[in-house]
Amino acid sequence: MNRQVAGVAAVAAALLIAALASPGHALVLALGLAAGPRLARFLAREEGAGPLRSGDPPTDETGSVAAVIDALNHPVLLVDRRACVVLANASALIAFPGVQAGAPLSLAIRDPGVLDAVGAAIASGLGRQADLIERAPVERAFACAVEALSRKPRGAAAVLSMRETSKELAVESMRVDFVANASHELRTPLASILGFIETLQGPARNDAPAREKFLAVMAEQARRMARLVDDLLSLSRIELREHIAPTTRADMGVIVDRTALSLAEFARERGVEIAIERRAAETVVVGDGDELTSVMDNLIENAIKYGKAGGRVAITLMDGAGAGELAVEVRDFGGGVAPEHLPRLTERFYRVDSALSRAEGGTGLGLALVKHTVSRHRGRLSIQSVAGEGAAFTVTLPRAASGGAPS
Ligand code: ADP
Repeated sequence: MNRQVAGVAAVAAALLIAALASPGHALVLALGLAAGPRLARFLAREEGAGPLRSGDPPTDETGSVAAVIDALNHPVLLVDRRACVVLANASALIAFPGVQAGAPLSLAIRDPGVLDAVGAAIASGLGRQADLIERAPVERAFACAVEALSRKPRGAAAVLSMRETSKELAVESMRVDFVANASHELRTPLASILGFIETLQGPARNDAPAREKFLAVMAEQARRMARLVDDLLSLSRIELREHIAPTTRADMGVIVDRTALSLAEFARERGVEIAIERRAAETVVVGDGDELTSVMDNLIENAIKYGKAGGRVAITLMDGAGAGELAVEVRDFGGGVAPEHLPRLTERFYRVDSALSRAEGGTGLGLALVKHTVSRHRGRLSIQSVAGEGAAFTVTLPRAASGGAPS
């Protein structure tokens, strides 16, 4: 490679790395525009020349550009001024298997917004942005940036660089759903309380028996709101700390006994018997006692509420499948959960039967709390159920090394 070409190749490679790593950055853009024509001349092929990857022996220059864009882990495509693909990096070929060097970009990417952006960038010499949603084989979203590499028609070429935004969109849609759900859950009891206040101020002003009845309902609705706010706060606290594993010790045998005792009256009212079986000798785990109590409380309470038809709840402490693991299974013999609901049970506000959950004072957040708490403990939650035969929720936790007192 002669010195001049080597110099241009180095500039091209550096610019490409900078421009592609942060598409849209003003400084990079300015540099890119300043050196654009040189880079374009270097990249551009004489019209009619074949695509770089269709059998041409790669020259040093094209080889080094290909190596540079291949090193980028997001899809990058170079197109000529007819919007035919000149080069595509490995990520682009994986994301868009239809991409072929020399073939029109539109054969692989059909989105009119992206194609328009490419056409407009080439025609105007100005950068363009577009969003792309691929539906098949799986739905994926990309933010696309197109930078023209030259204003000269003959040497025109553009770089299309894509950043996958699927995860961001999923998180954003979860956030929107979450706010909508939380607001809805709070609005319902709030509307009911406001309604009763109006009735008490108006028609029922002097009706003492009605007042007593309405106040009792209002108190229950207010408690429901308080439970919801408590659960929301617990969830956000756990999520904030999820990456920090606990270091204290907790005895699951003691926690299970205490929790079962505290729910004994609740179980008795529903005609449910709680039985605890210890198949493991050692029940101390690495964990936060309060958080694990709340996990057990949620699971046992759910087993009583939703499995009451079975009349009993069986809690078993046993060795986990992995070495050094303790498993606690909470099994009920009620209606169980149909298979299509199982994967979604731990989603916030997901309920199989909303009316039953609300009637039982549920917030729809219990299993989400359990899942995040178990994950903070570096444990696992598994759910097994056969509709009509009950459900088993198993929490597996790392055992603490023997010695030392539980917290
Ligand atoms: P909730 O406050 O509604 O109880 P959870 O997050 O604890 O919220 O549970 C979510 C949903 O999972 C419940 O509404 C219920 O439909 C289902 N579920 C939980 N535990 C059981 C169980 N033991 N048997 C059957 N269904 C259950």
